[in-house]
Amino acid sequence: MSTVILLLGGNRGETEKVFQQAIGLIEQQIGLIQRISSMYKSPPWGFEDEQWFLNQVIFVETTLAAGSVLEKTQQIERDMGRKKKTTTHYEGRLLDIDILFYDNVIISSPNLTIPHERIHLRRFTLLPLHELTPGFIHPVMNKSIAELLKECPDESEVKKL
Ligand code: ADP
Ligand code: MG
Repeated sequence: MSTVILLLGGNRGETEKVFQQAIGLIEQQIGLIQRISSMYKSPPWGFEDEQWFLNQVIFVETTLAAGSVLEKTQQIERDMGRKKKTTTHYEGRLLDIDILFYDNVIISSPNLTIPHERIHLRRFTLLPLHELTPGFIHPVMNKSIAELLKECPDESEVKKL
């Protein structure tokens, strides 16, 4: 049994509901949800997106290999996007699921990098992670989440909801 830590992201309407549905699908297809962080809200950084981003971190206990987790999360992203597309003029992707960590495993393949490459650069990732597991050691950087947060150069405003 492995623990995979996922980051959910979205900014196109009804994101709370989208996350809830996604968490249901993750539980059916990937494994038992162990922990869920608060939602965190951050300002959009694109020019055309007016909506704020929401992010949430979840811990999932899984028997799947990391590559299979990626296949499942990508399928769930597509399924959720398609459902939404029929009801609104949705343009971008409704849901982004990133794999942050898979136990202490390090993977560097063309389509999958674990730990996720940008964890240490983004407050919207570090804050929800810090809420759940401040002492977890990043296996590549060899620093705790608390240390990475302290050193993070990102100064954008991220609010816990
Ligand atoms: P982003 O998350 O950077 O906004 P995407 O969600 O479109 O962009 O992901 C682009 C690609 O990143 C995916 O096709 C996937 O193969 C790759 N990828 C590499 N490592 C990871 C990871 N740890 N979690 C999720 N996707 C990853
Ligand atoms: Mg992604």
